[in-house]
Amino acid sequence: SVSSYDVLVIGAGAAGLMCAIEAGKRGRRVAVLDHAERAGKKILISGGGRCNFTNLHCRAENFLSENPHFAKSALARYTPRDFLSLVEKHGIAYHEKKLGQLFCDHSAQQIVDLLLHECAEANVTLHLRTQVNQVRHSGGFELDTITPQGPVTFHAPALVIATGGLSIPRMGATGFGYDVARQFGLRVIEPRPALVPLVLGEAGQRDWCQLSGLSAEVIASTSTPGAQRARFQEKMLLTHRGLSGPAVLQISSYWRPGASLTLDLAPRANITAPLLAQPQRDISKARAALREHLPQRLADRLITLAPPSSFSNRALEAWEEHLHHYRFTPTGTEGYEKAEVTAGGVDTAELSAKTMESRIPGLYFIGEVVDVTGHLGGFNFQWAWASGAAAGRAV
Ligand code: FAD
Repeated sequence: SVSSYDVLVIGAGAAGLMCAIEAGKRGRRVAVLDHAERAGKKILISGGGRCNFTNLHCRAENFLSENPHFAKSALARYTPRDFLSLVEKHGIAYHEKKLGQLFCDHSAQQIVDLLLHECAEANVTLHLRTQVNQVRHSGGFELDTITPQGPVTFHAPALVIATGGLSIPRMGATGFGYDVARQFGLRVIEPRPALVPLVLGEAGQRDWCQLSGLSAEVIASTSTPGAQRARFQEKMLLTHRGLSGPAVLQISSYWRPGASLTLDLAPRANITAPLLAQPQRDISKARAALREHLPQRLADRLITLAPPSSFSNRALEAWEEHLHHYRFTPTGTEGYEKAEVTAGGVDTAELSAKTMESRIPGLYFIGEVVDVTGHLGGFNFQWAWASGAAAGRAV
């Protein structure tokens, strides 16, 4: 059978549902297609089940992209306040956790319910368990699909791709959006796992992974040649394979294979001052000085792995310097299985910053499939809402 609409959206996630709501409110006949058995599955597992649905301090600086200016327009036209007024309209209780991060008090399910309720009000049709086999372009877009009722061809003048990235394949993530972009000759920036734990090599694991479970406040930075520079002061967590925790997840989005990571293991602290102030110096005094600022097990490990080369003023100054610029060279990441998002994606140079329409008239890309990746803290959902709204107001 054949089904005709004004707008087809593939992907019933955060971006796709927002786009459908905005387009539906404008009177467009919208269908959202998804292969999953329910909408918004990633929303449900987000923020530890409470969904960090936005961040009050959302700025373009909180996003990575080959074009750091691209996201500005959409972010300015759909702000955290705009989403918050939806949350308040639906009476969803929320709280600020830290640094502007807003979470539901109760459950991420409430955010999915909000979106589905708004979709229903805007007369959006949802087709779940729908497999899109082929996208054709001939005076509009035609999708050959298999639905629970059998094969259906969907037809519309506008097609919005909102299929997300490759993160968490067991939740149904696919490279579908990238394939569609390539099918239409649009450039895709090589996708890579981001907001992801980093893995240390054999020697690094031998040195550090016994401390698995230990966390400490650090400043993580990386300077990959050619990439954006970044630094994050937050907790680092040692794992049984390497490094994680918010500071490392944040910096992982900027890290590239082969690059090293610099950790300030004692931000703002002057570790050696008490040693330098006294003439009697030895390793146990160095250990005590370190324990003043670091968790004991971390301090003891550093004394074993990287003790001062001697107790002269110069050696102690060099040691201090070393502890504030401690280098790790990860051998890789824990991959898409553990990555919260996918960096890279459809090149923003192919898209209008105002509408998310691509060079191909009528073909739009929104959300995580686009080469715009947020920091940890609600920024990825804000991008999904903002890019979804931008397309929904234009289609
Ligand atoms: P998605 O939400 O991934 O939606 C894509 C949809 O497309 C899915 O429904 C999928 O089933 C469908 N789809 C995919 N391929 C096909 C296909 N071939 N055919 C049909 N349908 C298809 N971000 C935050 O801002 N705050 C958080 O608290 C947060 N927590 C997270 C926790 C975890 C564990 C993970 C993995 C991510 C988290 N994120 C968080 C990131 C956030 O979930 C994503 O950035 C966001 O969901 C992207 O929205 P999207 O609509 O672009 O894609």
